[in-house]
Amino acid sequence: HKMMLLQAEKLTAVGQLAASIAHEIRNPLTSLKGFIYLIEHGRSKSYIEIMKDELKRIELITSELLYLAKPQAQEFKREHIGPIIQDVILLLGSQALIHKVEINYSQLGDLPSVHCVGSQLKQVFINLIKNAMEAMPVGGEIKIKAASLDEDNITIDVIDQGQGIPEELISKIGSPFYTTKETGTGLGMMATQQIIHSHGGTLEITSREGQGTTIHITLPADFSHPDDALTP
Ligand code: ADP
Ligand code: MG
Repeated sequence: HKMMLLQAEKLTAVGQLAASIAHEIRNPLTSLKGFIYLIEHGRSKSYIEIMKDELKRIELITSELLYLAKPQAQEFKREHIGPIIQDVILLLGSQALIHKVEINYSQLGDLPSVHCVGSQLKQVFINLIKNAMEAMPVGGEIKIKAASLDEDNITIDVIDQGQGIPEELISKIGSPFYTTKETGTGLGMMATQQIIHSHGGTLEITSREGQGTTIHITLPADFSHPDDALTP
């Protein structure tokens, strides 16, 4: 089954987002306050480890939020998707080894370039590949396939062999703080959808429980300089 994610429905409610952020940050803060009280009153120093974990969580949440809020590096340029994806695969090399995951990129023929903010598209593929790795606890293969869809669009599929997503949960993905992971932030897919949307593209999730998930992205091709729009 497939589900088109409607960003407009999810990203307009700034107030709802602010409330959920406050909620997410308040939980570890409350727990930290409690441990500081216990330490002040002479109880065990072992609470420090838990406090460090809670601080790490606040750090992770705020850094992901800052990434969403930052207007930095908004400059759109014509770039080829291949090198962007290859860079991300290199970047995640050590994590792939740890997860016993092999990441393979393939490209069907020559692709037109896209009009994009390279650093943002890198963030998209970092988020998607990390999710794919995390869905494959015993390792496996992640395939990334790029092709031209038609004259005006390219497609990129990120295919994993992970646990998959139950049908009724697919529509929740990309909502702020929706996560099924103990240490997840639930912000990765929201950022990913927002970036793809700001590039004029679409993102679709197809999944089969126990078999794997495919994230299907389309991006408009950039033919503003048709002379060198094709990969060599
Ligand atoms: P996080 O990774 O911090 O949980 P994300 O926004 O990246 O947050 O993902 C939200 C949720 O979507 C995940 O917790 C997981 O349940 C689900 N998900 C995303 N990608 C995949 C995937 N490739 N396979 C299975 N589940 C996924
Ligand atoms: Mg994630």
